[in-house]
Amino acid sequence: MTTIPQTQHAVQLVGPDQLQFNPSKAVFEPGPFQVLGQVEVVGLCFSDLKLLKQFSGHARKSGVASGVDAQALAQMPNYVPGDKPTVPGHETVIRIVSAGPGVTRHHVGARYLVQTDYRWLPTASSASAFGYNFEGALQEYVLLDERVITAPDGESMLIPVPEDLSASALALCEPWACVEDAYVERQRRTLKTDGSLLVVGETDVKPAQLTNLFARYGKPAKITWKTSAGIEELPDAAFDDVVYFGANADTVARLFPKVGVRGLLNIVRGGVRFGKQSSPKSDAFTTAPSGWSAPPAPTPQTRWVTFRLPPRYGPTTRSISSGRLARWAPCMSSATFARVCLMLPCSRATSAKIGSGCCGNSRRPSPRSTT
Ligand SMILES: [Zn+2]
Repeated sequence: MTTIPQTQHAVQLVGPDQLQFNPSKAVFEPGPFQVLGQVEVVGLCFSDLKLLKQFSGHARKSGVASGVDAQALAQMPNYVPGDKPTVPGHETVIRIVSAGPGVTRHHVGARYLVQTDYRWLPTASSASAFGYNFEGALQEYVLLDERVITAPDGESMLIPVPEDLSASALALCEPWACVEDAYVERQRRTLKTDGSLLVVGETDVKPAQLTNLFARYGKPAKITWKTSAGIEELPDAAFDDVVYFGANADTVARLFPKVGVRGLLNIVRGGVRFGKQSSPKSDAFTTAPSGWSAPPAPTPQTRWVTFRLPPRYGPTTRSISSGRLARWAPCMSSATFARVCLMLPCSRATSAKIGSGCCGNSRRPSPRSTT
């Protein structure tokens, strides 16, 4: 017989980025419809980090909008919506150590894997979940209420598990299920034809490229055309498809919030590699595809470079944009790289585009590089 203590060790999240170790958090006495589970193991994952950053702003941390009585919720001390401190941790295996008299489906001594997601209990913009608006398992004992953990079709969110498997192996079911699901789910593979598309470019984009894209994958109802400088002014979660031409990690990070629910972010690197450095903000859109309605004027930041080519390349002097230079690079000799680099405002990003043969800020031209 397990002796249940009055207090326990717990890790609580009390605000954005504010974790607190509480050595004396109360162990709740189960109400009539509640069970108390002793935590055997808890895994932490990237979802916990998102909650850590967002806290009350997280879509799963707001109040239950429907699906369970407000009166019932008031009887659940583990229900912690909004600004209330919560306990993170949703990858867990528990053993029930105590149960209220109204509990019908679970029993003391039984071992369960916790299914986290309460999809029939919506929040304002997502669903309720264990470890979010209901306290999770980064503590020694968790309280669970049958009125919350039982789906309308009768399925319980406590999945019985055998004794001969380790708790840590069992708790990995949750992240593994996410991986499986990512492969099983059929993603949309075309542009959403009745949706809205955002196009952002930091490399040279030819109108024909977009015309070709639409011919193959469908043309969205509404198209917004922006330079990377104009991303911030756009509303969040507003686009079904985002097509980004470029390889600047910062820009991609700024684009993520603009992608709507079930939206797709398409990255067209154009042969350029992502690096830690930012690529030149050339915003090279100069011409909109035909049928385009008044694109905003591009930011005039494209760098133009004039340089002399060896005679075998034809005209001796050329002017090209730094973006186009990257595409030419493979057919030039290293000596030409070096000369071109010396004429560019020497940005590391430009060196990355041209290849390791570029002088960059420090490296000498290498005779063999044509990357
Ligand atoms: Zn997880």
